[in-house]
Amino acid sequence: MKIGIVGIGLIGASLGWDFRQMGHQVIGVSRQQATCDIAEREAICDRASCDLASLKATEMIFICTPIAAIIPTIELLIPHLHPDTILTDAASVKGAIVDRATDLWANFVGGHPMAGNSESGIAAFEKGLFAERPYVLTPTAQTAPVALERVAELIRSLHCTIHYATPAQHDLAVAWISHLPIMVSASLIDACLHESDPLILDFAKKFASTGFKDTSRVGGGNPEMGMMMAEYNREAILRSLYQYRDRLDSIIGSIESKQWSEIKDLLSTNQSNRTNFINCSSLEKDGDFTIRKNV
Ligand code: NAP
Repeated sequence: MKIGIVGIGLIGASLGWDFRQMGHQVIGVSRQQATCDIAEREAICDRASCDLASLKATEMIFICTPIAAIIPTIELLIPHLHPDTILTDAASVKGAIVDRATDLWANFVGGHPMAGNSESGIAAFEKGLFAERPYVLTPTAQTAPVALERVAELIRSLHCTIHYATPAQHDLAVAWISHLPIMVSASLIDACLHESDPLILDFAKKFASTGFKDTSRVGGGNPEMGMMMAEYNREAILRSLYQYRDRLDSIIGSIESKQWSEIKDLLSTNQSNRTNFINCSSLEKDGDFTIRKNV
């Protein structure tokens, strides 16, 4: 298949590499010529340029720009496209994208690969990034069934686990497992750095080990992406943050009133629930067909 990729950063370049390994022809478009040069040199794309017109003859295009650029990119792409071309995106939020994109282009399918790291740009690309990871497709009643099937078929060939959800269901779920952790982790770093005693702060830095590294990792990632999640998934993030604040207040209350058994019960429940929660995503294959049938 002839596949286009717009935005050759972490996600776009990782997709490009995998598609080329599978024998597809990949045409890349990015903002900077330097990115395009790397994409060709590293065999991420067969050809790459800053010209959206180069995607004219592609059958499917993945838009992997930052969230704010997705709709403007579709608007710029449309004059160059054959009506049968299928567009899909990789954005981490779907409610702000899918309806608008489908209005602009009938063959649009919303998507979100649940894979990545805290780096950004083409240098951060990873081979085989998507294998064995969830990939969410967010069809609506307006989504063209043939376009959905073709995107799903290609995604499945990356050895992803496909899940189907509405854009709203997707945004509420990722608020819990992706966007809230970023805000919580960022607050943790911020609170720690505001320690008023310089000696204690210095000791904290010197003593920091795996616990702090694990819990601060996502809060120390790409600032632009975190900001866009807050901006474009505002209501769902606030919903999760308010519930998180309630749980935090509850723990503070238990400690203030020395209710040690309450703390132990909570931690014991979490110990087993966390294992079940984490294992669930690695066990499922092509999940949530009930949601898919209902859209
Ligand atoms: P990224 O590494 O910053 O890559 C985006 C690339 O797009 C940039 O390297 C930039 O390349 C290019 N770009 C920026 N504005 C552009 C424009 N207007 N037109 C064309 N190219 C443009 O970001 P990413 O992490 O790959 O994220 C890309 C998308 O995937 C986002 O929508 C994000 O929400 C989503 N996503 C990210 C992750 C993650 O963990 N990072 C996971 C799943 C989904 P130049 O150097 O050429 O400017």
